[in-house]
Amino acid sequence: MNGSTARSTAACLTAAGRGAVAVIRVTHSPLETSAMLESLFQPANGKRWHAQPVQRLIYGAWGTEAREDVVLCRVTDTNFEIQCHGGDAAVNRILQDLARHGIATVSAVEQTAVLQDQLDAELQSSLTQALTVRTADWLHEQSCGLLRAAFERLPQVTATAESRQQALRQIDDLLVWSRFGRHLTQPWQVVLTGRPNVGKSSLINALLGFQRAIVSEIPGTTRDVVSSITAFDGWPVELSDTAGMRTTDDLLENAGINRARDRLLTADLRIVVIDLSQPPTAEDHDLTASWPDALVVAHKCDLPDGWGDEAGRFLRVSSRTGEGLGTLQAAIVAKLVPQVPEAGTPVPMTERQCAYLERLKTLLLENRMEEYCQELPDIQR
Ligand code: GDP
Repeated sequence: MNGSTARSTAACLTAAGRGAVAVIRVTHSPLETSAMLESLFQPANGKRWHAQPVQRLIYGAWGTEAREDVVLCRVTDTNFEIQCHGGDAAVNRILQDLARHGIATVSAVEQTAVLQDQLDAELQSSLTQALTVRTADWLHEQSCGLLRAAFERLPQVTATAESRQQALRQIDDLLVWSRFGRHLTQPWQVVLTGRPNVGKSSLINALLGFQRAIVSEIPGTTRDVVSSITAFDGWPVELSDTAGMRTTDDLLENAGINRARDRLLTADLRIVVIDLSQPPTAEDHDLTASWPDALVVAHKCDLPDGWGDEAGRFLRVSSRTGEGLGTLQAAIVAKLVPQVPEAGTPVPMTERQCAYLERLKTLLLENRMEEYCQELPDIQR
């Protein structure tokens, strides 16, 4: 438990973007709040703030000029919640009003870590980062005690070789899902590459249209990578289109190409797109050879085949007719999520949780038992 509760803070607990209702939690000293709310909040029941009972919902108007309907609730003596219209505008306006009264805006994790322990803070905030119903179900299950119980089951005493083995097995059983767990809040990265005009952007649009579930558009800040987030089979996937990878003397273009190459290197999955209607070029061969683990899409399969047998092992797709899009989507999911854990499996989901488990594993393997026992409670700090 972190004892620093002196600072007054405000944090939005609900996910960013559009929604019916947003919730802002404020931690504060009761005296300061009374004075502040006298000027910012007019309760419909006309009572002063200190006379409002704890745990009662209080309807009223926020602000003096442009009034905003809100519901306030004193959760405890030092913590209240504001429920306002969903959407960034109402939330930002209230956070700004609070900031003018010295209440710092912080992230939900930061605020919860002061109120509770770090693990609770991570579990709660992960729920606001779910991008699909399927990942939200997973995160909800983890945050209902499943993950905490798995950490608490790690053996406290590792005096015997058998207990050390037991601890290592439990840690490995958790770490095996670390990649899956991190993608419950961060989309899987799929990056398309290929010569100009092979139809990369058409293919991305077709995949997005095929899904009819664009979660958000990320406008490209540069012309080298443009991304959109969608969901395949309930898993969030960010599709990125890279610029052509040809070498050039243009410094700006080279910087863009380097960024595109970095995106390809760090992607969870690469898709090389070739134009089936045009005979193969050296650049096509370079790309398929450079990314041997990529899915290769033989695109524009609605047109006469210019490749012949060589393209037989590639996925035939046409963005124009829709042929092969379903198969491509299934192939993407099979590569990204080859195995889904059984319901009820604890899954670590943050870098910190995975680093903690890796550290305990190292200590066990190096027989540093005293340090293992000392660091075991770190998951909550
Ligand atoms: P990019 O430069 O790789 O992003 O390619 P574009 O998506 O801009 O497409 C290049 C051209 O190919 C455009 O004229 C598209 O209309 C065309 N095109 C894209 N996909 C297909 C397809 O599946 N079939 C056919 N016949 N043409 C396509």
